[in-house]
Amino acid sequence: MTSPVAQFTERLLSFYDDERARRSTDDDPITRARNYRQRLFAAGLAGLSIPTDLGGQGLSANEAAAITAACSRHQPPEESIFGIGLSMAVPTILEYGSNELQQRVVPPSLSGDAIWCQLYSEPGAGSDLAGLTTRAVHDGDEWIITGQKVWTSGAQHSDLGILIARTNPDAPKHSGITMFVIDMRQPAVTVRPLVQMTGVAEFNEVFLDEARVPHDNIVGTVNEGWPIAVRLLAHERASLGRTFTSSKGLSKAGRQPLPFDRLLHRARSAGLTTDTITRDELASVYIGEKLIGWNASRGLHPSIGKLWRTIQGRAAAQLAHRIGGPFAAAWEHSDAEADYWAYHVLNCRGMSLGGGTDEIQRNTLGERVLDLPREPMPDKNTPFRDLPHN
Ligand SMILES: Cc1cc2nc3c(=O)[nH]c(=O)nc-3n(C[C@H](O)[C@H](O)[C@H](O)COP(=O)(O)OP(=O)(O)OC[C@H]3O[C@@H](n4cnc5c(N)ncnc54)[C@H](O)[C@@H]3O)c2cc1C
Repeated sequence: MTSPVAQFTERLLSFYDDERARRSTDDDPITRARNYRQRLFAAGLAGLSIPTDLGGQGLSANEAAAITAACSRHQPPEESIFGIGLSMAVPTILEYGSNELQQRVVPPSLSGDAIWCQLYSEPGAGSDLAGLTTRAVHDGDEWIITGQKVWTSGAQHSDLGILIARTNPDAPKHSGITMFVIDMRQPAVTVRPLVQMTGVAEFNEVFLDEARVPHDNIVGTVNEGWPIAVRLLAHERASLGRTFTSSKGLSKAGRQPLPFDRLLHRARSAGLTTDTITRDELASVYIGEKLIGWNASRGLHPSIGKLWRTIQGRAAAQLAHRIGGPFAAAWEHSDAEADYWAYHVLNCRGMSLGGGTDEIQRNTLGERVLDLPREPMPDKNTPFRDLPHN
């Protein structure tokens, strides 16, 4: 008898094959992504390790990991639109959210009806995230949220947001923070796209002007959201470190890293595979790719995977840029191939920031893995209200 892992792997690979065959660029990318997820859900293939009463397949974590390892490279690029929901918000809600909240938000996240964004960073709170000033005030069965978030990836097409806000300014800054699930489709939420140097508006400013959130949308407990927020960041870093390179459905969407075989093809086309420097750099990118995969499967600290993926992404893009010569710097958007490479060269810089900067990953590794002395925190016990603010 075939094992559930073999059965699911076979079904999923065949589903991805069908998706590739039917893929069309007629619909806008978001409709295309929602339709794809709807079909995945209907086929009984969504949420491998998520319990069946929440719409998942109820497999063990090990079974799900084995299937993912075999299939991820074949996923259509549309899958990246659901990354924040399925790799960050849903796992955190499964750990800390009430059963009722899980029942409400997990099934639509699996079926593509709910696309998520992460409302963490603010103009004055990035690396020092606990310095956030967006506030939430209790009002009957609801909370009223006011403040500004920034660099919010995908907010322009999101249905739900995972948000952290200050609920007790009298407590020290790491206390008095609460995590909420917010409905992004309400008039009190204004989303303004920010165009990056890639020419794409991946992220946004989000203004919250007395937005309302039901009390039941709290993840965990009031004022005790900081450790939950950190847990979500660990999910984010783990997923960024696991991000696979796929040459099957080439896309500029999201943060898909450069596939090595395309890089090799580019070097071949430029007649550079006999050039020793190019060969050396290609070998080093290839080795880095292999190491990321192996490290990810060993389950190392999320900051290692995230940092490695970032460094690797930059090395690959830099090599692609050098191979392209002057055309890599001055390209026509109408030239799809050149446009694709240019996008990656420009996009890879952001990888060093999103999900926590390289420096913050190094600090985390120093303190939590190598047990080096912690950064001094003179404001650790001061009530947030008394801290100096801009
Ligand atoms: C592509 C992209 C997507 C993003 N998506 C989202 C999103 O969806 N949701 C969201 O909430 N945020 C998102 N962000 C924001 C991201 O999390 C922040 O940019 C990041 O945390 C850094 O914050 P900052 O930009 O305020 O920089 P700052 O914190 O001001 O840092 C500036 C510089 O100082 C360094 N630095 C700061 N503190 C220290 C320290 N203690 N030790 C050493 N060096 C330090 C940093 O490494 C950096 O080089 C995204 C960013 C990018 C680029």
